[in-house]
Amino acid sequence: MDIEAIKTNCEKIKAEIPDNVKIVIAAKTRSVDELKAALAAGMSIVGENYVQEAEEIKESLGRKSNSLKWHMIGHLQTNKVKLAVEIFDMIETLDSLKLAAEIDKRAKEVNKIMPVLVEVNSGEEDQKTGLRPEKVIEFIRDISLLQNIKLSGLMTMGPRFGDPENARDFFKKTKSLFDEISALKISNVQMKYLSMGMSNTYKIAIEEGSNMIRPGSIIFGQREQS
Ligand SMILES: *Cc1c(COP(=O)(O)O)cnc(C)c1O
Repeated sequence: MDIEAIKTNCEKIKAEIPDNVKIVIAAKTRSVDELKAALAAGMSIVGENYVQEAEEIKESLGRKSNSLKWHMIGHLQTNKVKLAVEIFDMIETLDSLKLAAEIDKRAKEVNKIMPVLVEVNSGEEDQKTGLRPEKVIEFIRDISLLQNIKLSGLMTMGPRFGDPENARDFFKKTKSLFDEISALKISNVQMKYLSMGMSNTYKIAIEEGSNMIRPGSIIFGQREQS
């Protein structure tokens, strides 16, 4: 997509959403120039699905990359955690104790407290990543004991295709889980961010309480393959 169109799309989406909602631009498969256009339009949080791709993009952006926030939004493999902890400001896709322990260990090594969101499989679909809703509270109690992880909220995908209205119930369910956990006031847990909503669903997600959205194609155009 051309650079001017990307800027226009960014301005449009920013004008549309409430001030408290953060925009994580989903950058997978996009070129550095496309990303630069979004940054020039004021975007400042970049969501990456792959650790390697994030590292390469950060390198090509040079010093500019330091003024941005980098979020891991793809499934994270244990063997990529060391690098992920170095390059990301938040990991939105925590969904196992094994991964939590590895993040904690690697963060400790570099003296970092790593902000994470727990990914909730709100649609309860077998093929999807994320924790089943009924497992989330016990999981959070467990990881709250890890000193180099800062649990900062929840993330969910919801259905990717079909009628965006189909996502509403999944977002509602995730928001009520978010509120339930907040009310528990677990120490070392700060329920600050609820990351829900992509290009086709962000409006519905915000109506249902999202304060962090992850649009990609509505900014950059359709991907060749997703
Ligand atoms: C690709 C992706 C998005 C953005 O999807 P679009 O439909 O292009 O807006 C958001 N979140 C995650 C986790 C993704 O992988």
